[in-house]
Amino acid sequence: MNLTTVHISRSAPWLPPSMLEQSGEIRHHITLSETERRVFRKHKKILVSKWAEMHRYVTMSVLPGRWKNEVTPYMAGVMDASFFPSVQTIIICKPPQWGGTEGVLTCLGYAIDRDPGPVLCIYPDELTAKENNQDRIQPMITSSPRLKAYMTGSDDDAGMMRIKLTHMLIYMAWARSASRLANKPIRYLVFDEIDKYPDTAGKNETDPISLGEARAITYRHNCKKWKISTPTKETGNIWQALTKEAQVIFDYHVTCPFCGHHHKMIFKNIKWEHEKEPDEKGDYHSLPAETIESDKLAWYECPQCSEHWTDYDRDRAVRQGVWRDRNGGVELMEYLRLHRPAKIGFHASSWISPFVSFSTIAAAFLKGLSDINKLKDFCNKHLAEPWKLNVISKNADQILSARCDLKPQTVPESAIALTCGVDKQKHGFWFVVRAWTAELTSWLIHYGFLETEDDVDKLIYESSYPVGDTGRTMRIFRACKDTGGGEKYEGMSMTEEAYYWLIKNRGRGGVAVWGTKGASNSLPGMLKIGEPILSTPSGKKLPAALRLLHIDTHKAKDQYHYRLQLAAQEDTRNLPGAAFLHSGTGADYAEQILAEEKQIVDKGAEEWVNPHQRPNHLLDAEILASVCVEMEFPGGGLRLLAERLRQQTLSASDNKSKSAKVAVTKSSWMQRR
Ligand SMILES: [Zn+2]
Repeated sequence: MNLTTVHISRSAPWLPPSMLEQSGEIRHHITLSETERRVFRKHKKILVSKWAEMHRYVTMSVLPGRWKNEVTPYMAGVMDASFFPSVQTIIICKPPQWGGTEGVLTCLGYAIDRDPGPVLCIYPDELTAKENNQDRIQPMITSSPRLKAYMTGSDDDAGMMRIKLTHMLIYMAWARSASRLANKPIRYLVFDEIDKYPDTAGKNETDPISLGEARAITYRHNCKKWKISTPTKETGNIWQALTKEAQVIFDYHVTCPFCGHHHKMIFKNIKWEHEKEPDEKGDYHSLPAETIESDKLAWYECPQCSEHWTDYDRDRAVRQGVWRDRNGGVELMEYLRLHRPAKIGFHASSWISPFVSFSTIAAAFLKGLSDINKLKDFCNKHLAEPWKLNVISKNADQILSARCDLKPQTVPESAIALTCGVDKQKHGFWFVVRAWTAELTSWLIHYGFLETEDDVDKLIYESSYPVGDTGRTMRIFRACKDTGGGEKYEGMSMTEEAYYWLIKNRGRGGVAVWGTKGASNSLPGMLKIGEPILSTPSGKKLPAALRLLHIDTHKAKDQYHYRLQLAAQEDTRNLPGAAFLHSGTGADYAEQILAEEKQIVDKGAEEWVNPHQRPNHLLDAEILASVCVEMEFPGGGLRLLAERLRQQTLSASDNKSKSAKVAVTKSSWMQRR
């Protein structure tokens, strides 16, 4: 038996008066087990980063094994600052693939070994909570001999939602499991991926973050709270915490391995290869994003010595880096000693991460030029900044600035496909026809109103438009037709009509026509193929199963406006993705586009609304025509078609005997005279 004697100071405020009656030194004898002795043993204070290199093993990483600070050198500062005495809240706004979650878990490992107390980790949902427990937290404990010694050895001590160690408990929760967040005093709180949390933790509850924070009141003098996330929008949890809650924000400064210039890296200095020859206007275009990414054609240019850094040079620069406060440039630990802040923020972009290549970043940016959702991704996942769309046309002149010289009902020569969108009304149909290049530059070539179903059939299956002055013509390649379900329909009979029409015309004339509906929730992408529908809304059995395309109309409208803006502004007209209007486009078109406005609704979320219930059918038709070129559209995006056409042209010039066959294949796609 190990008898330990504890010496108690007479001035201890919690000492019961009865004990003060004893004269002389106050002593207390207790029996401690081996692990308890280990916990209470006086440790020399060491930094978390030093502790990590001795006792932390990484399992979920591209570089598994003993923790090395040189892999993600910036994490060392974040971890060490977390245990600075004054610091209680650590806000980390970061890109994915940055090592943030692993770094915070290392802090928990340190807490287990050096400064124990109950832990609560809150994840956005149940699955993420379970996965983090099983794939990260438990392996962190079992893979480290030091931490493993704190396990009790009992089987039920590592549960799905709780880990019981000899001297402390670790709880897992998710944002909606409100009951888990109540009534347990917690010293260490980890809020992970907080921009994915729902607004409330459950019925009649406040938000999950406040609920979680209330748990730490017992430990208000020595608790630690980490809030981590990739940002989404300005009103999102992490951006609010970083900009409103943090008393100071730290940025990471690196050192050029060539000239020693110490600076914060910015996106502007990431450069990539361009075409060797200029176009007819003398502009040099970027090589395609895919080529830049696959052939690693991007680099970072030192703003001081102009030396080109490879990804490897970047890693060296980051190893010679430090965190500095955004306003005064004071080094992290120095700042903490001087100002003793309680709430600190770290903000970092993807290019300091060893897991992200400059070429990936450049490609993500280039893809964003023609696709607003990819631009949003670039903004959130590389700049680690919230997304804000501020290019929305507010008047008819702005919309009509996207007009070009193109005559109505004429296809530009560079176009490779036509798509059509049809918005069904109670009486008649609104439609648009758009011409597209493989890079998703597009032109409105035809729009208007059709009275009968027959007229729509003629438009989709029979119309053909002249291609410039080539003498060729082009027909519609894909079309989308709204099947309704919205309030604009009287009863359900119109939806029923639309279903029968779609089944009857399936596969007709080689045109891919999909029935669509607006998705009720936001989708991960732009489109989703729905489950097979077997009967009409009124219950009649359909002659064949029908699948509809569900559209995230919010994203699609953002995308449309973004592309229209590219075409409307002189300096962006040449970018891929610009959406032009033909020369005859009139105020009638602009009015329908302007019917909807983007408004801030509940909790700061932005939504497209039609405040005055004006006709907006051409906007809907434009959305339907443009989803036809999305990657997620059944059959794939336009690039696939472009590649196929290119292959055919190549083999046609290679081998004359094949050309007849090629011409047939090509015509079956879209070019029939
Ligand atoms: Zn340099």
